[in-house]
Amino acid sequence: MESPYPPSIQNLIDQFSRLPGIGKRSAERMAYHVLSSSKEDAMALALAVRDIKKNIRACRRCFNVAEAELCEVCADSRRDHSLVCVVELPRDIISVEKTGAFRGVYHALQGKLNPAEGIGPENLRVRELHERVKNPDDGVNIREIILALNPTTEGDATAAFLAGEFSAYENLRVTRLARGLSSGTDLESTAPSSLQFALEGRREVDKA
Ligand SMILES: [Zn+2]
Repeated sequence: MESPYPPSIQNLIDQFSRLPGIGKRSAERMAYHVLSSSKEDAMALALAVRDIKKNIRACRRCFNVAEAELCEVCADSRRDHSLVCVVELPRDIISVEKTGAFRGVYHALQGKLNPAEGIGPENLRVRELHERVKNPDDGVNIREIILALNPTTEGDATAAFLAGEFSAYENLRVTRLARGLSSGTDLESTAPSSLQFALEGRREVDKA
């Protein structure tokens, strides 16, 4: 079916349709909203999209999103750099930050183990986590890593793998979030209060 829209409008609708959770109707409404906005507002949207790709990079230490070499968490000397919360993705860091209860720092693995999709430890930032434990670039020895993977099959497998790898270090406590997060969900859709509870109730993984 030929598009009833001029190409420029159709293009914007197509772009919005690719966003998660946006259906065709919503995409049309968004495109018309942009069309009826002032030129300044429309350009502000375009520039925000451009800047996120231009300015955002991975923190060289923890792989969180950053606008400088280090992310804001790693650059903050008031945080406890000896306590590292290991998550799958930078968006999980936001979920933990929303609890307001965590004063340590992070390590974003950039995914989780998924043998079916060919994602092994070498595809995640595991080597870099070993490096942080062995040779902290800020000179602060890590005394605890908290495995805060999503409570999914792959998340659990990733946590079990990391528990095995990192329990070999002496003087390093390896803990996991307390049970109680609903299985199959993710940190993002967990209420901050539940996540805070799981963090505070974390327990040491069994040493291999
Ligand atoms: Zn960082």
